[in-house]
Amino acid sequence: METPQKTIDTNGAGQGAGTTVTVVPSNARAEEYSSSDNALASRGLHLYYGETHALKGIDLDMPARRITALIGPSGCGKSSYLRCFNRMNDMIDGVRVEGRVTVEGVDIFSADIDLESLRKRVGMVFQKSNPFPMSIRENISYGPRMTGVRGRGRLNDLVERSLRQADLWEEVRDRLDNSALDLSGGQQQRLCIARALANEPDILLLDEPASALDPISTAKIEETLLQLKQSYTIVIVTHNLQQAARIADLTAFFMLGELVEVDDTTTMFTNPKQRITEEYITGRFG
Ligand code: ADP
Repeated sequence: METPQKTIDTNGAGQGAGTTVTVVPSNARAEEYSSSDNALASRGLHLYYGETHALKGIDLDMPARRITALIGPSGCGKSSYLRCFNRMNDMIDGVRVEGRVTVEGVDIFSADIDLESLRKRVGMVFQKSNPFPMSIRENISYGPRMTGVRGRGRLNDLVERSLRQADLWEEVRDRLDNSALDLSGGQQQRLCIARALANEPDILLLDEPASALDPISTAKIEETLLQLKQSYTIVIVTHNLQQAARIADLTAFFMLGELVEVDDTTTMFTNPKQRITEEYITGRFG
């Protein structure tokens, strides 16, 4: 199929002299990933914060039980895009969204969508770990209790399973009733992953989860995510290109609110289609 092309002027993107690059529309590659196994997808997705046009027609498919990394310079729309999948942007005043977003085939902007169950299925972990000011145990059991899980035995099982999944159990099993705020930064972030998993989601969205962590804690988080992808669909926003290269199956490069290119991670980092992608991954700007 002949692929129509367009140009974007990268002037003002912060990389010095403005270059004009040819961009293959984002759905050209995405077609190759279209299959019933895609857990998350968007078509023609536009997002506006008042006058700011933050996402400009994003078409992307993200496969189930894989890690997809969203990369690109600061302010290019990665977090905004991530937040569309559990409708977190709804909480921001003045946001307007156009287009289609599906989670496991269901249009999540349809009128009859139950936001509570959507957010249970699509868990989210943020850049800054945000444990509740309560015990480790209560951090994990809080969400399930809110959604009706009862019984000490059942809750204990859930606490242990979630902490094991987040690779934190061995470090905290003897102090489950201590404050979560006494954990190290890396442990707090793994606790937040465990807390998200306790709600038994299918999908985990992570917005720069390791950007504030030391290399050892970062490695722990990455190992945890690689384990989790056997059962969960994971999307991670990262400014750390090495991290994307280490853990992601698929990488999507965003720029100025557009999806420039998406490909399997190895191809993306060794043989990108677009010159602007190559310039970004080789550190020429960003
Ligand atoms: P990235 O994650 O790539 O850094 P963002 O999605 O955070 O990019 O931001 C994309 C654009 O949307 C930027 O211009 C940013 O200033 C704007 N933006 C993000 N969040 C908000 C918000 N809550 N209110 C207004 N503008 C926002």
